[in-house]
Amino acid sequence: MIEIRGLIKRFEGKAVTRNAVDGIDLTVPEGQLVTLLGPSGCGKTTTLRLIAGLERPDAGEIRIGDKVVYSSDDHVYVGVHQRPIGVVFQSYAVWPHMTAVQNVMFPLRSGQKKLPVPEARRKAMEALDLVGLADLADRPAPALSGGQQQRVSLARALTREPEVLLLDEPLSNLDKGLRDRVRDEIRAVQQRLGITTVFVTHDQDEALAVSDEVILMEFGRIVERGPAQQVYARPRSEFTARFMGISNSLPGSVTTCGDGLADIALAHGELRCVAAGELAEGDRVNVFVRPESLSLSRKDSTGRGWKGTVEFSIYHGDCWDYHVRVGDTLLRSRIYKEKVGLSHGDPVFVSPDEETAIAIPA
Ligand code: ADP
Ligand code: MG
Repeated sequence: MIEIRGLIKRFEGKAVTRNAVDGIDLTVPEGQLVTLLGPSGCGKTTTLRLIAGLERPDAGEIRIGDKVVYSSDDHVYVGVHQRPIGVVFQSYAVWPHMTAVQNVMFPLRSGQKKLPVPEARRKAMEALDLVGLADLADRPAPALSGGQQQRVSLARALTREPEVLLLDEPLSNLDKGLRDRVRDEIRAVQQRLGITTVFVTHDQDEALAVSDEVILMEFGRIVERGPAQQVYARPRSEFTARFMGISNSLPGSVTTCGDGLADIALAHGELRCVAAGELAEGDRVNVFVRPESLSLSRKDSTGRGWKGTVEFSIYHGDCWDYHVRVGDTLLRSRIYKEKVGLSHGDPVFVSPDEETAIAIPA
């Protein structure tokens, strides 16, 4: 549905050292939601604005459906108003002097295809119903909560029945509790309509929750892509592993490998890991272990635990994070138990779950 080839965008300026978008190839299949995920400044917004036609690329090709909307080779550039898209930004951008329904009607009453008021209102009401706001249609926009205003923006983006929905950090300005609800609402509407969607976020939890596919970006390039579960459980690069929250990293070297697994010699002992990519005997690797995959015990029942000392603990409500010093490495262990009762200075044994750790070439 969306096809992007060799997309490049460079902003001019003294401080500019690299392309904001540096050769992106991307396919978003029809009806899927793909997330562009990455740290601030990696080029997510620019990529989205290039797809929308709000920014002009320097090179490449963009196709939406069967229509080429940009091609540097063929000198094609279709403007934003001619692209079959709906866009929602981080700032809700609802007009304060209008009611909810007037906001949603506005695009239908302006531009080339001016709909008569009754028809525009009917369509706007359909869109508001879709986002669960039909009851509040006649409320002035400023009297709506942040989450409701963002749903008005979503309804407005959907009202012209776009082929593609583009969302740039639509949840960033919302409070935590509201964020989850609006996120679920967006995913529900997207799946109900089966609308092809590009969702931009810097938040990995958000990306995992809503995506069919996650595209991880760094420095204007795609560094990794795959289904949410794959990017989460089987990162192939150190950048991805860290970005997906695998905070424990231990240097080691491969002793044996095969069948996607590898035995790694670490400072504290041997560990069987999942191999990210091709590894060979003797390769230097970093082993990444999720805090959830490190268990703690007072006694070394397996005889293979790593001897450590508790530094401090953090309580999260549904779990505890224990920070444990093993040799000169500080490891984080997440325990889903009511009470573990370990405190600073307590000796513990740390045991990583076999075959959940990931060995990534160093
Ligand atoms: P993200 O959305 O991932 O945070 P952006 O796409 O906004 O990243 O920015 C990518 C890079 O392009 C950054 O280095 C940013 O400073 C630069 N950039 C974005 N917009 C402009 C602009 N209008 N003029 C100059 N530089 C820009
Ligand atoms: Mg951005």
